[in-house]
Amino acid sequence: MTLHATLIPGDGIGPGITDATVRLLAAAGADITWDVQLAGMAAVTKYNDPIPAATLESIRKTKLALKGPLETPVGEGFRSINVALRKEFDLYANVRPAKSVVPGLRFKDVDVVLVRENTEGLYIGVENYVKIAGDAHAAAQSMAVITRHGSERIVRYAFEYALAHGRKRVTIVHKANILKFSQGLFLETGRTVAKEYAGRVACDEKIVDACAMELVMRPERFDVIVTTNLFGDILSDLTSGLVGGLGLTPGANIGESAAIFEAVHGTAPDIAGKGIANPTAVMLAAVQMLEHVGDTARAARIRDAIETTLREQKTVTGDVGGSATTEQYTDAVIAKL
Ligand code: NAD
Repeated sequence: MTLHATLIPGDGIGPGITDATVRLLAAAGADITWDVQLAGMAAVTKYNDPIPAATLESIRKTKLALKGPLETPVGEGFRSINVALRKEFDLYANVRPAKSVVPGLRFKDVDVVLVRENTEGLYIGVENYVKIAGDAHAAAQSMAVITRHGSERIVRYAFEYALAHGRKRVTIVHKANILKFSQGLFLETGRTVAKEYAGRVACDEKIVDACAMELVMRPERFDVIVTTNLFGDILSDLTSGLVGGLGLTPGANIGESAAIFEAVHGTAPDIAGKGIANPTAVMLAAVQMLEHVGDTARAARIRDAIETTLREQKTVTGDVGGSATTEQYTDAVIAKL
């Protein structure tokens, strides 16, 4: 069955690495009709709008998008594009798998999936300065909002993900010992949801600081982690670092009405246009997209081809110790399919 998906090539290295990914998907026999749309600087240049209505309309229709990295224009009136997309489609679950594949790193057996709540917590954007004794910036306050609804759906998502992907354990990561109300509500709700999965998926709890330490000492002990927005933001970069950096890590943003798949890294302006960027993160984001729509056998085949190519270290890009171009690496992955 033909899959309809929106393709946002993005800025900087984006077009090169998304092209490579589209080529890989086609070589794997995925029947996808891409609706190519602009966002970021490319859209500003053409339409003077970083998120044109046509792009939003396309995602609304296809409910599925693969996105290259975007440069958010600096200046008044422009929102953060990624945050705006998250809000527009209520993409509440940010799913970032991190798996050891590249040889020679400090850790060999990392295979952790971090599920981050994407819409609440300290990132709701309610902040203000407090004026004291003539100093307009004497203090600043930020509000964190955690809801039972938001906590329930993200923890449920983590458990359902675990079931669907044969994962054994979900770790609820929190700071309820200090933030007794907001984090307390997240933990309390998480425990209630976890009970529904008893006997099918194990559950444990960790305070975020202890979790950070254990992640850098014994990362292989973790399976699925579910946590609130700010902690998820930080810990997901940590888990990316454990397996070789942002160039290898994909991220999915999932909601009820749409899902957007992307690389975690940015536009890499220092290497843009040179044809040497590593397309792995976007390729793995496409694998997540195929898994999301149930094309799991093809997803596994593509993932295997990527992992074998990376493990062999014969034809890999500069950031992971090789000298191949984006195109040569893509050809090597396609040859492994
Ligand atoms: P970056 O991720 O673009 O680059 C950091 C370093 O990693 C650079 O040295 C870069 O060359 C390297 N790198 C990144 N991806 C790579 C790849 N696929 N292959 C090889 N090397 C790679 O981060 P930055 O420099 O902080 O940000 C640059 C721009 O990207 C900014 O405009 C920022 O706003 C934007 N950004 C966008 C997203 C997104 O759209 N999801 C995420 C982060 C940053």
